[in-house]
Amino acid sequence: MSDRKAELAANLARVEERIAGACGTAGRAREDVTLVVVTKTFPASDVRLLAELGIRDVAENRDQDAAPKAAACTDLSLNWHFVGQLQTNKVRSVTSYADFVHSVDRPRLVNALSEAAVRAGRETGVLIQVGLDGASETSTPRGGAPPAGVPELAELVAGAQGLRLAGVMTVAPLSGPYEGRPGEAFERLWEISTRLRAEHPAANMVSAGMSADLEEAVTAGATHVRVGSAVLGVRPRLG
Ligand SMILES: *Cc1c(COP(=O)(O)O)cnc(C)c1O
Repeated sequence: MSDRKAELAANLARVEERIAGACGTAGRAREDVTLVVVTKTFPASDVRLLAELGIRDVAENRDQDAAPKAAACTDLSLNWHFVGQLQTNKVRSVTSYADFVHSVDRPRLVNALSEAAVRAGRETGVLIQVGLDGASETSTPRGGAPPAGVPELAELVAGAQGLRLAGVMTVAPLSGPYEGRPGEAFERLWEISTRLRAEHPAANMVSAGMSADLEEAVTAGATHVRVGSAVLGVRPRLG
């Protein structure tokens, strides 16, 4: 085994232990939580090693980096997740490789994604990104749809050709009422998911938790944790 592969294997084992531990504490089955490894800023060779180590889900946050990486890995059976802020001029590229887009937060993006997915002859799984840093249900200073906007966005996605409403996603807020309380933010996301599933039972993905707070996410019901640095190491540049 190469040094890098051994390093990734050791990191994966530690992350696996954390996820299994959190599942045990929460009384959840380990297979109900999918580890999505966030490979942003790391090379395609790392994606290949991760696939050899049994990883099936990888995530990227910038199309410029993700598109060539996905193209270099088409021989691997991987699910590609797009988790970054998405501009409408990138959706054609993103829908060409992404199985899931976690960062859908506005109607214009839904329309653009739908058009691109139909044109590509693909079905794109869509997660609505919920912004929980606002002081109210109707505002978000950063990215993400405010909680009050989720039902309307969900209807739009559910009715859009080429798209499949898959669930909800959030990032632990760095400001606002949930600052420093990722567990409470993830519980709020679970409530939003419960309400969404009442109308759209198949939209059961709950994407929450990163290297620093994956336990809190698993406790709150996350079905997908997005883990970067705990698997790949400190990122070579901000991303
Ligand atoms: C980078 C990133 C992650 C992973 O973060 P780590 O702290 O490296 O685990 C998860 N989700 C999103 C949206 C990201 O951009």
